[in-house]
Amino acid sequence: MTDIRSMSLEELTLFITENGFERYRAKQLLSFLKAGADSFDEMTNLPKKLIAFLKENAYLARADIVRKQVSSIDGTVKYLFSLSDSECVESVVMSYHHGYTICVSTQVGCKMGCTFCATGKSGFSRSLTASEMIAQITSAQKDLDIRISNVVLMGMGEPFDNFENVVRFLKLVSSEDSLNIGMRHITVSTCGIVPKIYEFADLELQCGLSVSLHSPFDEKRSETMPINRRYDIAELMKACRYYLKKTNRRISFEYALISGVNDTERDARELSHLLKGMLCHINLIPVNEVSGTGYQKSDLKRQQSFVNILTSLGLNATVRRTLGADIDASCGQLKRNFQKGDV
Ligand code: SAH
Ligand code: SF4
Repeated sequence: MTDIRSMSLEELTLFITENGFERYRAKQLLSFLKAGADSFDEMTNLPKKLIAFLKENAYLARADIVRKQVSSIDGTVKYLFSLSDSECVESVVMSYHHGYTICVSTQVGCKMGCTFCATGKSGFSRSLTASEMIAQITSAQKDLDIRISNVVLMGMGEPFDNFENVVRFLKLVSSEDSLNIGMRHITVSTCGIVPKIYEFADLELQCGLSVSLHSPFDEKRSETMPINRRYDIAELMKACRYYLKKTNRRISFEYALISGVNDTERDARELSHLLKGMLCHINLIPVNEVSGTGYQKSDLKRQQSFVNILTSLGLNATVRRTLGADIDASCGQLKRNFQKGDV
């Protein structure tokens, strides 16, 4: 069966014409998908013969809403979507002054095993197709009756552990024939799979890159992020510099402040030393306390002194506002509660 939602206009045109249908039908079909169609039957102005052909030979990946939670604090919406094989992923829609941003999942679970992360704790099931990532956006847009203008790949999963599908997704979502969300409005977040950072840089996609750092010391980073045992901080920084050189786009470093683990003055000074002179921004996030990890967020005073050290040393750093706190919609809290039966 052909995965229609993962296809570009060119691929779709080829598929359709090879099977004897007019080429302009491909564009028509894509506009239905853009509008959020979930079945071929909704494509009312396509000829019956084409609809019958599609039903027999192709499918539309879906992300069906299983649960929806709306934050009473800031209106952030968290969805639990079910995919065609009943695996579930979560997505979060946040409203900012410049529009709506969606946080998309790229895998069911994650193999990387970061000790502070709920997804990491839930194990790994499978990677998502490009169409399943797109379906998260179209389902949310349809449900909320909005146009989403920004995408961050910061949901469940490690995007660079699903490289091909993620790149396909990025090209599709930014194309005019599909959702038309510009690359400059998309950010990919990685825990630091170094060879993929090079590969990604070489694609010169103009997409934002966010790197989860969480400690400037190898020993400590390896304790919380096992990927660091494979690619250490020096290698990671080299890859980031290469990305910067290739794309000229500022990198964001994510740094979750964990009380007593990575929030001391020594950590702040070493972090400054590491990132000094680099075109980047440091996003400090008080760690979201995931049950079973034992980690606690740094108190307000410590958060403030950490950010002060960084800025006084000339770095660009801010403490990120937490959205959707009452519905566990923050980074690293997306997990498969549903399948554990506690919803
Ligand atoms: N796998 C990718 C993207 C998904 S995780 C990555 O690790 O970058 C999205 C972000 O949430 C990452 O920056 C990750 O480090 C962060 N994160 C995970 N668990 C967290 C927690 N408990 N508190 C704060 N941030 C967390
Ligand atoms: Fe995976 Fe990212 Fe969570 Fe680490 S932080 S376990 S890479 S989702």
